[in-house]
Amino acid sequence: MGSNILVTGGAGFIGSHTVVALSEAGFNPVIIDDFSNSNASVLAGLRDILGRDVPCYAEDCNQYNLLRKILHENRIEGVIHFAAYKAVGESMQEPLTYYRNNLGSLITLLDAMLAEGVSNLIFSSSCTVYGDPDTPPVTEETPIKPPASVYGNTKQIGEEIIRDVCQAKSLKAVSLRYFNPIGAHPSAAIGELPKGVPNNLVPYITQTAAGLRPELTIFGGDYPTPDGTCIRDYIHVMDLAEAHVSALRHTLSYPETRYYNTFNLGSGKGHSVMELVLLFEKISGLALPSRIGERRAGDVMAVWADVQKSANMLGWKTKRTLEEALQDAWRWQQKLNNL
Ligand code: UDP
Repeated sequence: MGSNILVTGGAGFIGSHTVVALSEAGFNPVIIDDFSNSNASVLAGLRDILGRDVPCYAEDCNQYNLLRKILHENRIEGVIHFAAYKAVGESMQEPLTYYRNNLGSLITLLDAMLAEGVSNLIFSSSCTVYGDPDTPPVTEETPIKPPASVYGNTKQIGEEIIRDVCQAKSLKAVSLRYFNPIGAHPSAAIGELPKGVPNNLVPYITQTAAGLRPELTIFGGDYPTPDGTCIRDYIHVMDLAEAHVSALRHTLSYPETRYYNTFNLGSGKGHSVMELVLLFEKISGLALPSRIGERRAGDVMAVWADVQKSANMLGWKTKRTLEEALQDAWRWQQKLNNL
């Protein structure tokens, strides 16, 4: 029998794919998700993929007594903490909502874990901690920059809180700095479900191709990059999910009782917005309506990951191509819209 792992936010985009990866690796995931930014249909998708129900608490994870009960009753050995609000723009308008939810729930979770003696934690962080890097790729030693948003600040402060707790208490934790997760499970049983108009590039592309949006606006065509558009490190969500399994094995087997580390999770390669649009057109056989618009405030020009440390210490690297990620994202969108 594998270890029981609590996945907070396990019905969300990255959380649900990680539940699949955990199950396939022999762990027993238990979800807690308040469904404020996810949909109960995800549970049916997980059942389709895994052939069984995944236990799920439909609850806010900022509840100390409840968390203790869940950790205790399920004999949880590790926690993967995804549950957080993630809309950058909204975080600027509602800072307290973001600090209360993202940091409040983290502190509550840490308190409950320490009280129950659960000593392994994987935290969802973000490459936003690097800000606009002078010379990509960024390594984990690249100095972190003042955050450009309240959302980004919750990730920076979250990392610091965990680091400090690991120095003082019996806790082994890693923060995983995600680059740009895209794609969906290849079965199209689960995928990304953006609320309203998507902020992210790939759901915007697939919704435009599905006829839900009239055209894609490419935010800025005059950056000093080879084709004038921004460069990011796109990673297939299943590769990202599998990295959580590697990170969990890493902390579970780590011989000390106090341990903290950070890892970049990306493909290690940068691709421009224009490259993504052209590749999507190639794999879908569609002409994607698009135009170059203004730059988006707060966007960095170019960032991609140095993934050497993750490869060396976690024994993990990406297996899937950008083409597969776009294909899987498009298959998921077609299924959603019965195309
Ligand atoms: N982008 C774009 N049009 C859109 C959404 C995004 O041109 O409708 C660009 C954005 O400027 C950035 C890249 O796509 O260069 C990835 O943006 P996304 O919001 O997906 O992720 P971010 O890197 O901002 O976290």
